[in-house]
Amino acid sequence: MLGLYIHIPFCEQRCPYCDFNTYAGVRAQLVEDYVDALRRELVAQLTPLARAERVVDTIFFGGGTPTFLSAAQLEGILQTVRESIAVRPNAEITLEANPSTVANPELSPAKLEHLRRAGFNRLSIGVQSFDDACLRTLGRAHSAVEAKETFRLARLAGYDNINIDLMFAVPGQTMGSWQQTLTEAMALHPEHISAYCLTYEKATPFYRWRATGRLRPLSEDAEAEMFERAMDALTDAGYEHYEISNFARPGKRAQHNQIYWRGEEYVGAGAGAHGYLNGVRYWNEKLPQRYVARVSKEGRAIVGSERLSARARLGEALMLGLRLLDGVSLDAMTERFQLDPRDVFEREMRRLTAFGLVRQENGRLWLTRQGVLLANRVFMEFV
Ligand code: SF4
Repeated sequence: MLGLYIHIPFCEQRCPYCDFNTYAGVRAQLVEDYVDALRRELVAQLTPLARAERVVDTIFFGGGTPTFLSAAQLEGILQTVRESIAVRPNAEITLEANPSTVANPELSPAKLEHLRRAGFNRLSIGVQSFDDACLRTLGRAHSAVEAKETFRLARLAGYDNINIDLMFAVPGQTMGSWQQTLTEAMALHPEHISAYCLTYEKATPFYRWRATGRLRPLSEDAEAEMFERAMDALTDAGYEHYEISNFARPGKRAQHNQIYWRGEEYVGAGAGAHGYLNGVRYWNEKLPQRYVARVSKEGRAIVGSERLSARARLGEALMLGLRLLDGVSLDAMTERFQLDPRDVFEREMRRLTAFGLVRQENGRLWLTRQGVLLANRVFMEFV
């Protein structure tokens, strides 16, 4: 499998909890220059892979807010990809989007339809909550009604594979509010739901506001209860809980993200994007202005790369693979890395098993329900 990640680092406004590589209030000229540079970088990265007869299996436009760009710009980028390398027929092509607002009808029916005809066949909508009080706390631009209307318009435009992103453990959020958000999300019948716990990332206003007491985070117990409520409600409604934060209708798992979790290869294009090819991880210039300048000078914008040792790659593969609830095959890992994780991480696995966080059976290792709740602590063992 080969994935392609394309980063669009622009947003209408900056949400105070977000630490993604994205910028608000940028000049239109920079956006245009960025799109040109991105198309140039894609040709430079994809042409050698095409010569080696590689085929792209999934494409993911992430951000930022990719739909900040016009339909013509997004279509142009996709066209450059298709002109540079073969894309598997029926490849999953995802576009991240934010709900339209009255002030900024970013996703008009005409734009949604234009994008679907251009080849985008999966939408991932950043809803976060169907409770306006939570949306205000999160500093989101849209309301719950606007989120529902955006979903309805996407369906009308013919999208039959839609993800909704939700967030829990928002300051002030009650279990009742979280349950209402889950209920309203399920009532829309999306094919996929991602449910993330709010985290307080350094260098964000939320991080500072927590430190100064302006924000009161929920307790760890409340976080765990909300996560458990999501697991129970969504699986009861027929969603498969296949990755720590992800739930899908049968056959609708996110193909692109599975490439990351399975440690397969992907190309990263755009400002700050990361890629992983031939055992080498690489990353691009982060700031859009510098990215544009570097691409115009060198055709590409890589500023760093590393080749991990077999042991580090094994630890990373375990960490990523365990995110999937059907776990990892230890035999397949041994064959792939020529190192047996049962030897390399013997002590760690014994300890995690004793704490009831992982289970091992028939050569497979997976997280228990308790392990899912404490996944970050499990992963620390393999770093
Ligand atoms: S819209 Fe998404 S990417 Fe943009 S600032 Fe908000 S959370 Fe971050």
